[in-house]
Amino acid sequence: MAKIKMATPIVEMDGDEMTRILWQMIKENLLEPFIELNTEYYDLGLEHRNETDDQVTVDSANATKKYKVAVKCATITPNAARMEEYDLKEMWKSPNGTIRAILDGTVFRAPIVVKGIEPCVKNWKKPITIARHAYGDVYKGTEMKIPGEGKVELVYTAKDGSKSRELVHDFTGAGIVQGMHNVNESIESFARSCFNYALDIGQDLWFATKDTISKKYDHTFKDIFQEIFEEEYENKFKEAGITYFYTLIDDAVARVMKSEGGYIWACKNYDGDVMSDMISSAFGSLAMMTSVLVSPEGYYEYEAAHGTVQRHYYKHLKGEETSTNSVATIFAWSGALRKRGELDGSRELMEFADRLEKATIDTIEEGKMTKDLALITTVEKPVVLNSEEFIKAIAEKLA
Ligand code: NAP
Ligand code: MG
Repeated sequence: MAKIKMATPIVEMDGDEMTRILWQMIKENLLEPFIELNTEYYDLGLEHRNETDDQVTVDSANATKKYKVAVKCATITPNAARMEEYDLKEMWKSPNGTIRAILDGTVFRAPIVVKGIEPCVKNWKKPITIARHAYGDVYKGTEMKIPGEGKVELVYTAKDGSKSRELVHDFTGAGIVQGMHNVNESIESFARSCFNYALDIGQDLWFATKDTISKKYDHTFKDIFQEIFEEEYENKFKEAGITYFYTLIDDAVARVMKSEGGYIWACKNYDGDVMSDMISSAFGSLAMMTSVLVSPEGYYEYEAAHGTVQRHYYKHLKGEETSTNSVATIFAWSGALRKRGELDGSRELMEFADRLEKATIDTIEEGKMTKDLALITTVEKPVVLNSEEFIKAIAEKLA
């Protein structure tokens, strides 16, 4: 069979540790035999980031603006231990943070649902995708410990020097206080990313805040979503047969638990941080979560939600066998290839992405899986494969 051609490249962002090993295996066994892989390669491995003073990360994000589609391997975010381990010039910032800042995107995380790995919530039948607003609120807050009696106020000084103030609290004893902010521009692009992605994957969009209590702060989020929806998306949603649904955050949580899934849940920064961990653990495994960064301009960067699986990598370096789950990384590739196919009008490429995902799911549903899944599956007598055997089992199905 002739290999599938790609008219336009996708941006390939290589990464670190065990996921870098899986990356190579996936390309060799699942992609290159079937596709004339056309990528613009950026090595985001920590050594190369250090050599280039992290310029490679910036370049890869800018390339994503050019080609619109990227696929990223997990990367190390340096900390003190990594400074020593890699003899770094600087504690480079998280590549995901840098890329997100350049693309101004929203991250959507979705579980990969397979038979035999059952969610803890028994009525969840379809994935629940979480969208987290990744700017502001408590993550850019300013805090103070109040030592004793005294007044705390919010003061806004306008450009012309005029001031307005609000009393936060008149303290009679020690306490604490926090100031936080958000900006309309960021909320607007969050809203547009969510509406666009809902249209893209044809699923309903839910959004929730605590607007009844937070009548200015949270209410602004609600209002901005509503205005943008009515002005730019209502008709498109009707045509696509999907809905936008707003409710209070506590009501949303209660409804999510009783739902069967199959929608996108847009969350403010803190809600998204907390709820995405709940959703991924309830669906079974972090190794089965995909993640895509979507910018309001329509740039897409696909990756696995998990990290570089450092513990497995050290075993691998010692020559020991590993059984690391490559599913989320495979789905990052299939997501990127499908999007490339869609943008280039290549049905072949889109169909390949579907076949790759199906082969992966079928392999697991037949009982062949990595150790992390074997520990939680309801399939009887699962066959535990090592990292490479699992990818080869998928390759056999694909061929
Ligand atoms: P991690 O790599 O996600 O791994 C945490 C643990 O989860 C692993 O030790 C493993 O458990 C399990 N796990 C995760 N993915 C798995 C997979 N594919 N197959 C099997 N088991 C899997 O998180 P971490 O150890 O906290 O972080 C390691 C490095 O990744 C850090 O340097 C961090 O900066 C980076 N990181 C990068 C990203 C990203 O690029 N998006 C995200 C998060 C973290 P067992 O050891 O029990 O088997
Ligand atoms: Mg979290």
